[in-house]
Amino acid sequence: MPRRRTIVNPEILGESLPLDEFVEVPDWQGPRSDISSYKALHAKSLLDSGAQWEKLAKELEWSRGWDSVVSPTGHPHVYEWFRGGSLNLSNLALDRHVRTWRKNKVALIWEGEPTDENGAPKEVRKLTYGELLREVNRLAFALKTKFGLKKGDKVAVYLPLIPEAIVTLLAAARLGLTFTVVFSGYSADSLSSRINDMGAKALITADGFYRRGRQVRLKEIVDAALEQTPTIEEVVVVKRLGIPCPMRAGRDFELKALLSEYPVGASVEPEPVESGHPLYVLYTSGTTGKPKGLIRDTGGYAVLLHATMKWVFDINDKDVYWCPADIGWVTGHSYVAFGPLLEGATVVLYEGAIDTPQYDRWWSIVERYGVSILYTTPTATRSQMKFGDENVTKHDLSSLRLIQSVGEAINPSAWMWLFRLVGRGRCPVGSTWWMTETGGVMISILPGLSLIPMKAGTNGLALPGIDADVVDEKGDSVAPGAKGLLVLKNPWPGMPGPPTGMYGDPERYEKQYFARFPGRDFFFCGDYAVKDRDGYIWVAGRADEVLKVAGHRLGTFEIESSIVSHHAASEAAVVAIPDAIKGEVPIAFVVLKQGFNASEELRGEVRRWVRDGFSPIAEPSRVFFVSKLPKTRSGKIMRRLLRAVAEGKPLGDIATLEDETSVEEARLAYQSLDVR
Ligand code: ATP
Ligand code: MG
Repeated sequence: MPRRRTIVNPEILGESLPLDEFVEVPDWQGPRSDISSYKALHAKSLLDSGAQWEKLAKELEWSRGWDSVVSPTGHPHVYEWFRGGSLNLSNLALDRHVRTWRKNKVALIWEGEPTDENGAPKEVRKLTYGELLREVNRLAFALKTKFGLKKGDKVAVYLPLIPEAIVTLLAAARLGLTFTVVFSGYSADSLSSRINDMGAKALITADGFYRRGRQVRLKEIVDAALEQTPTIEEVVVVKRLGIPCPMRAGRDFELKALLSEYPVGASVEPEPVESGHPLYVLYTSGTTGKPKGLIRDTGGYAVLLHATMKWVFDINDKDVYWCPADIGWVTGHSYVAFGPLLEGATVVLYEGAIDTPQYDRWWSIVERYGVSILYTTPTATRSQMKFGDENVTKHDLSSLRLIQSVGEAINPSAWMWLFRLVGRGRCPVGSTWWMTETGGVMISILPGLSLIPMKAGTNGLALPGIDADVVDEKGDSVAPGAKGLLVLKNPWPGMPGPPTGMYGDPERYEKQYFARFPGRDFFFCGDYAVKDRDGYIWVAGRADEVLKVAGHRLGTFEIESSIVSHHAASEAAVVAIPDAIKGEVPIAFVVLKQGFNASEELRGEVRRWVRDGFSPIAEPSRVFFVSKLPKTRSGKIMRRLLRAVAEGKPLGDIATLEDETSVEEARLAYQSLDVR
């Protein structure tokens, strides 16, 4: 395998690490290949990507075969995958396994947040595939019999991370309902507006859940939301906390009581739905503006999940898989609720916070259940780094064999931390690039297909059948080593589905994703990326957040990456402010690691660090120390709010903002310095 030790290339990413150096995992038992072999395989896949997807589709179970792999619909850039075919996702995730030895295999291990005085979880529930199917059947039966819910009806789900969340999504899929999940941390307004957007007929929710040692009372929020939702006829309430909560007669039904009306063995045949049938509508994170509601089909999605679970996660039915994402995000849909169950794995589900009761909670979970595949995020990783290495090292993590990350670009030092400390150099570590719109991973390293040499922080290469590229403003491919805009040049299964791609706003679908390069049919992802000289893609920020400093273009992430490689910095967000001479200059909001205090010296040091370690043009003109950054509830940095603070402009849509005090703190920090 070629090994190349290279200097930091300041044109690529801003961190003092050997970014161009390959990192290898000698212990990796799975398939591996060099870059050129993988590229040859990839090029071949693009010659007839339909044949590839069809081959994968045949590995699933269909009630009826398809007539064509991909067909246009009446709506531009919305395709129907596997037209003529019909299937059911709950059949694929459950019944198919229950007919085999996996019937008595554990499908779900759930851990509640509360612990005893020794730090052991007070509640653990394990459900085998057979038991999970029984629960799904019971709920589906009740929804069908009691409320008359049937294929095509719309339901909203507002549930914490409890087994019933998975049961609900699978039961909805079983009946052919179209669901929308609203993250359980969202407010009454967000809940009611999503319900109204969808016209949902029923809502499945809970009385509450535990978060950071406290009880969050969900039903109170629900009751406030339901005052403005004329379409909701029935509400099912899971008693997670067992607290008393007001129940409106005729509308609200406690889950246990509802189920007790029917025999334990009640079951419903999985309803075969046509491949293009909408499984769910889901909104994006709102990092860059008003969230967009995307429609997801069934057949194409199932095929994409099957392919990516195999290639990206190398999953098999011996794996214990854990992705701590909430079911409120697309990651929770694709890679918690559906993907791993399609493949017959054991899925871990944890209700609570990363640092409750102690900083080592995550690692105790990995150790307790022998997690072999971990799918994490850069935000969680940086938090763990801030907590301290001893939380990791005191646990036996030898069960881990693969680590992937998603959500934002991962800075090389965080990648290295996962690779060296968590994975002990034995586990491939990757940063899977995808978005709500894509339904599943598009760019990654592919340990399950053939592991190419890794680099610390790269996204890797496009998956077989996926024509991802980095292009210039005109849509032409950039040369290796250059920066540009990330596009997907061909349709893929799992992409926004019929009838209109984007829910309730069909025109926005075309405008948002396809208008950028007229006549080219490229899906414009909205991300700014670098393609290095090996062809590896590094997403380096949002296209509309790119800084133009003295004629040079810099991704926000490049500068942030440089800052967080300083030993005192744990997180950073960079935005541009206008500058009379340079056009724009970066300013940085920085969170310090525990044990470091803000000072003028440190401010100067951070600026020098970027200037000397990365590039003089990247040096932040101002550094503001804050205790937290504004983030979406899924943990992504909302740079647009910091820009609004700097420009003194209105904040825009903040429905998905986690903590409003973070913006206030940034405003105060900003105003405390003379920035004129
Ligand atoms: P909105 O579209 O409402 O602004 P959002 O883009 O954050 O919100 P998501 O669909 O949850 O909503 O996130 C997708 C985006 O997350 C991608 O476009 C990209 O910017 C970022 N992203 C996800 N994974 C990665 C990764 N591995 N590396 C770099 N960026 C990533
Ligand atoms: Mg987006």
